[in-house]
Amino acid sequence: MNEQLRLLRELQDVDLQLKAIEADKERYPLEMKNLDEKLASEKEMSKKKKERIELLERERRQKEGDLELEQERIKRAQSKLYDVKTNKEYQALLTEIETLKEVRSQREIEILEIMDEIDELKKEYREVEKALLEMEERIGEEKKQLEESIGKAGGALTSKKRKRTMITKKLSPELMGLYQTLKEKRRTAVVPARFGACQGCNVRIPPQMFNEVQRNEAIIVCPSCNRILYWEDSIDYR
Ligand SMILES: [Zn+2]
Repeated sequence: MNEQLRLLRELQDVDLQLKAIEADKERYPLEMKNLDEKLASEKEMSKKKKERIELLERERRQKEGDLELEQERIKRAQSKLYDVKTNKEYQALLTEIETLKEVRSQREIEILEIMDEIDELKKEYREVEKALLEMEERIGEEKKQLEESIGKAGGALTSKKRKRTMITKKLSPELMGLYQTLKEKRRTAVVPARFGACQGCNVRIPPQMFNEVQRNEAIIVCPSCNRILYWEDSIDYR
């Protein structure tokens, strides 16, 4: 194969690899950010549960305090029963005690309900905490791998760029210019000719020219799209 043609193909391969590495390098920080956000939202959920538990605990203590006072009030009213003089007073006091007892039992129900909710929330909280720990471990591992990939991509980028420089030094400035123009305008600069047509634009190549392309001995450009043509059968994988 024509040396310049071989170099052009190599250059295109290196450029494709560079593009892939650069895309990876852009993607990695986003992936890192995603992982951090996932962890942060899980932490937020756990924090909210904990805050809710604390709030309910405070509410429970408050209600237990109320219950004690109500208990005292009942005792006081009960002790007054021995001192009352009239039946009317006695009846009134009994009614008062009944009302106080109703309030007390309502309070007890409220406390039990809060305790149930606290139990439920604590169970959920333990599960969330467990999931969080697992997630932290997993995300830590993923981040480590990502950092390794970032490091590797950096190394690969340097070595591919070095290779690119070596190739471009050997290419003639005219071909280099043509390659750059084609790359910018048409993305691919070097394409195979197959079934008598340019694989870049699918336009048929005149038979005489196609014969020449098949020899891979000269730089031949597609008459339609101007891309540099080569013949596939002699792919050189160096
Ligand atoms: Zn073409």
